Amino acid sequence: MDIVEKLIKKLQKKRGNIPSKLVEDLGNTRDPQAVEPLFYALKEGNCKVRKETAVALGRIGDSRAVRPLIHALNDWDLDVQKAASEALVKIGEPAIQHLINAMKMKNWRMRKTAARVLGEIRNTRTIEPLINALTDSNSYVRKAAVEALGEIKDTRALRPLINALNDGDPDVKMASSEAIVKIGEPSVQPLINEMKKGNWEVRKKAVEVLGNIGDAKALEPLINALKDGNLHVRIAAAEALGKMKDSKAVEPLINVLEEPGFTIMTEKAAWALGEIDDVRCVSPLFNKLKDLNLYFIRESLEKICGRMPANGHILFCKKCLHIGESHKFEITANKSINYISCRNCHSTLNLIKGIEKIILLIDNSFEEACVQKEGTFTVNWFKKKEPFDFDEIWIKEADDFEVEELVMKLKNDEDNKRRKRLASIPVYLSPFLKLPPSIRNLLKDTFKNILAKKQFSG
Ligand SMILES: [Zn+2]
Repeated sequence: MDIVEKLIKKLQKKRGNIPSKLVEDLGNTRDPQAVEPLFYALKEGNCKVRKETAVALGRIGDSRAVRPLIHALNDWDLDVQKAASEALVKIGEPAIQHLINAMKMKNWRMRKTAARVLGEIRNTRTIEPLINALTDSNSYVRKAAVEALGEIKDTRALRPLINALNDGDPDVKMASSEAIVKIGEPSVQPLINEMKKGNWEVRKKAVEVLGNIGDAKALEPLINALKDGNLHVRIAAAEALGKMKDSKAVEPLINVLEEPGFTIMTEKAAWALGEIDDVRCVSPLFNKLKDLNLYFIRESLEKICGRMPANGHILFCKKCLHIGESHKFEITANKSINYISCRNCHSTLNLIKGIEKIILLIDNSFEEACVQKEGTFTVNWFKKKEPFDFDEIWIKEADDFEVEELVMKLKNDEDNKRRKRLASIPVYLSPFLKLPPSIRNLLKDTFKNILAKKQFSG
């Protein structure tokens, strides 16, 4: 007699008082012979034994255990229920049809549990019955079906799940939006289509779910939804854009913020701007703060300014071609915000990040006004012709008159700080440049640091 047979014999002898260890040992043998003898323990043992029996049956994984385990889903003890559903998930495929049948039972708890277990088995064969359960009369069953469909993530469930966003039960609605978020990218286009429909509640739900999915394809429709005819949709759109944290939403949100007076949208736009890491919105928020000294505008400002780089030079105003300058703003007697704005226009609206070097370029063959390439910002002197903030001068192609004009304009710069820096600015000259000695001397006297440069990129 082998060990399994011995254990089975022992189990049959102990009928009135089965030790849970024995059941456990039988499960560990993983021997199909043990399955049927264990049914008695699943039905008649105490709750600990019933639970261990379900675990053992799951471990053996034999399809004969499916029916008794489904029956055990209805056990009054929650631990037994849980162990039975886990065992069914382990058995998997052979349990599917029985669970689908269980979803037609009168007992709603059984229908709910069956739906849940099917979700965990994650087999696409179960999509149809789960979709049918979305119209179940019991909201707990509908919620379990929605959650199961979210686990399986099959796109066939999308349409029914989108419809379930309109379910009469708030929990089902919530679960549906979570399930759609789990399905993710494939739901984006259907939700965008949903936003074009008449019902504002549907539009609002679609906007919320799109914000949670966070796919860039939804950005433009969400920005458009800031102008929706329904206030609830507009609020949801501002919230979604704040969650997505995409800089493309900054300008449209600033437009909302700048609408006169104070509405709920002022608050939502200020919040969303605080979520997006973009220095451009600091000035508009300060302007609004002057009109309406509201805590939520201060909060957003604190958030954005807290993320600003400490060094002003890293921010550069691409409109004025001036670097940033640090400021301190007292919110209350003992609280202040440090922020950076353009040294010239004092606004943050045109600040760009990550500029490490600004080059003043003299090159007759260069057509653009300015070029940004990674950390380098190159400005065409011939398009600007007025002093601005720069770190280096590159002279590639110019005549002596043009070079002299540049030097004179820089020497007469009204900006003292910048004028005093001239001596330390390096000047790179092309070896092909033909300049008379007088101009070369003028350069030497003004800048001291004259270098030759063969390669001019940018
Ligand atoms: Zn500026």
